[in-house]
Amino acid sequence: MNRYDSAVLRSFLEEKGHRWTDDVVDADLIIVNTCAVRQHAENRAIGRLEELVSLKRKQPDKKVGIIGCVAQELGEKIFKKIPTLDFVVGTDKISAIADIIDGTAERKVYTDIDEKFYGLASPPHIEDGDFSAFVTIMRGCDNFCSYCIVPYVRGRERSKPPQKIIDEIKLAAERGVVEITLLGQNVNSYRYGDIDFSKLLEMVAQIENIARIRFITNHPKDFSKKILDVVEKYRDKIPASFHLPLQSGSDKILAAMNRKYTISQYLSIVEDIYRRFPDAIITTDIIVGFPGEDENDFLQTITALNEIGFGGIFAFRYSVRNGTKAAKLKDNVPETEKIARLNEIIKLGIRLAQKYSKKQIGTIQKVLLGNISKKNPEFITSTAPSGRVVLIPRREFFKKFVDVKIEKASTWVLWGKPIIFHNKPF
Ligand code: SF4
Repeated sequence: MNRYDSAVLRSFLEEKGHRWTDDVVDADLIIVNTCAVRQHAENRAIGRLEELVSLKRKQPDKKVGIIGCVAQELGEKIFKKIPTLDFVVGTDKISAIADIIDGTAERKVYTDIDEKFYGLASPPHIEDGDFSAFVTIMRGCDNFCSYCIVPYVRGRERSKPPQKIIDEIKLAAERGVVEITLLGQNVNSYRYGDIDFSKLLEMVAQIENIARIRFITNHPKDFSKKILDVVEKYRDKIPASFHLPLQSGSDKILAAMNRKYTISQYLSIVEDIYRRFPDAIITTDIIVGFPGEDENDFLQTITALNEIGFGGIFAFRYSVRNGTKAAKLKDNVPETEKIARLNEIIKLGIRLAQKYSKKQIGTIQKVLLGNISKKNPEFITSTAPSGRVVLIPRREFFKKFVDVKIEKASTWVLWGKPIIFHNKPF
């Protein structure tokens, strides 16, 4: 979502006559977009800002500011850490950047929450040759998972008007984008009038020249059969690839996390997905070391992960976020234990991902061609419907989709041989 917000901000500033540079020394204005979801991300953002403001010693006219969730969370307090920072703009007040740059702003800190703000009107910046683009469909979150800071920094959930989403996607398609990823903290709870997420997904699937649609993130409590019906109806365009954060395999911990589902409810969604799409890939997020997680809770998580057979696991160790409900609980899992549990989940995640990737050998998959691989310049990178990177030998390409026979697999990457080039991308 931050990448999307940054791409929108770039267009907004370019519309106002500013010019993009990749060079921080050359830049008159540097804006750091930040994530507050983990303490580690926040520390890194502050460290980076400290480095950047030091450039002002030699270039006093340079402006450096912070936007995003850390800006929203810390507001005025950031000046105690970085007194020479020029501005702090929170998630709903991003348009204030224009006044700040023009020198007409009345303040240096803009962190008011605006529940009606859907984001800047500018379309996100798209590079020439980009095949893939993100589109945010909603902002904020109402779920208040007890460990999570997002509802406090992104505000209440609001869904973007469907027409605005459709127009944005059509514009991206005109610029050559064929793959769209719909973004939201919980896309399943999208609702605008009588348009819910399944209806929106169908509307997007009907847009001409959009060949592949992904969506993240799903919340198990809102994941409906209607969504699976639309995936089934538009199988060519919507891959059966679902990111479904589980967080823990223990009902006790799920309740303490305020996740609002049980492990058996989660398993029944998974069963439904695999019954309808035997080749589906399901990926997940896990937090280890949540307050009160004992050995037995952790073993239940391991059991659930093995049983479900995820194609990818994103694992994190619990970190306290001030202001959340969980911050009031005793952070009683020792750090060494958190690290040991995290390492065990990471190893299991790798084993499961390898198992999924190996199963792909011999299959034929319609992959979307990307660019020349930076690590392996003799290969073109592309993505399979599952989201796995597929490397295929480099040659002159002029089509966007190609059918590839998968011949080899490592944990996260598949190697394939092109067999059919599509004259039309889809
Ligand atoms: S669903 Fe829970 S974890 Fe996700 S953004 Fe909302 S509060 Fe945070």
